[in-house]
Amino acid sequence: MIATIGIKMLEITATHWNGTNTIHPTLIWDENEAVLIDAGYPGQLPLIREAMEQAGVPFEKLTHLIITHQDLDHIGSMPNIIIEASQPIQVLANELEKPYIQGEKRLIKLTDQAIASLDSLPDEWREGVRRLFMNPPRADVDRVVTDGEQLPFGGGLTIINTPGHTPGHISLYYHASKTLIAADAMNVVDGKLTGPAPQYTYDLVQARASLKKLAAYDIETVICYHGGMYTGDANKRIAELADEE
Ligand SMILES: [Zn+2]
Repeated sequence: MIATIGIKMLEITATHWNGTNTIHPTLIWDENEAVLIDAGYPGQLPLIREAMEQAGVPFEKLTHLIITHQDLDHIGSMPNIIIEASQPIQVLANELEKPYIQGEKRLIKLTDQAIASLDSLPDEWREGVRRLFMNPPRADVDRVVTDGEQLPFGGGLTIINTPGHTPGHISLYYHASKTLIAADAMNVVDGKLTGPAPQYTYDLVQARASLKKLAAYDIETVICYHGGMYTGDANKRIAELADEE
């Protein structure tokens, strides 16, 4: 019996140009609607669909897609999800991320250096990834979400602006289970909750300030897109991370 209201961290593993890795979109649903938080790498719709089935929420129930930020591993399957769905899917994101998600600005991590580094990729990946970089996934953002905004999904979800990893990065707080969906504001590495990874962070000073903001919430579980779930003493750990310089 599937609960009428629920949250489930999905686990999607696949091999890409940057190696084999696992990412964790989060699914939140209620009787009427289901929202997927982040859309994986390109080509992952079949895996997402399967993970949703396993959670007891068929793909046909999906109504919203919240994109926490513009990175390729978060927007990858967004266009396919929208095209394949027979039902309308609303895309929600922060104002600052919108022009990137809509393909109006070049994704900030697709720097000249990142594009030049494609030369060193193995033959089987190089051209495909080049095409991806030249023509990244894009979709219209139907609704801009703002800091502190309450969304009704699954009984209640709060938007928390946590800039740093990208300028308009957001995290979400799910009230029913006091779960923070941190996206890439934090990571889980070897079972430990860690702060932003400097090499992937656009503005580290901002990212650290965002941790201070998260420390104000009462959090029992943290879901990190990279590394998965942290169920230790999250409040204490986030306060520690927020105090680190
Ligand atoms: Zn990411």
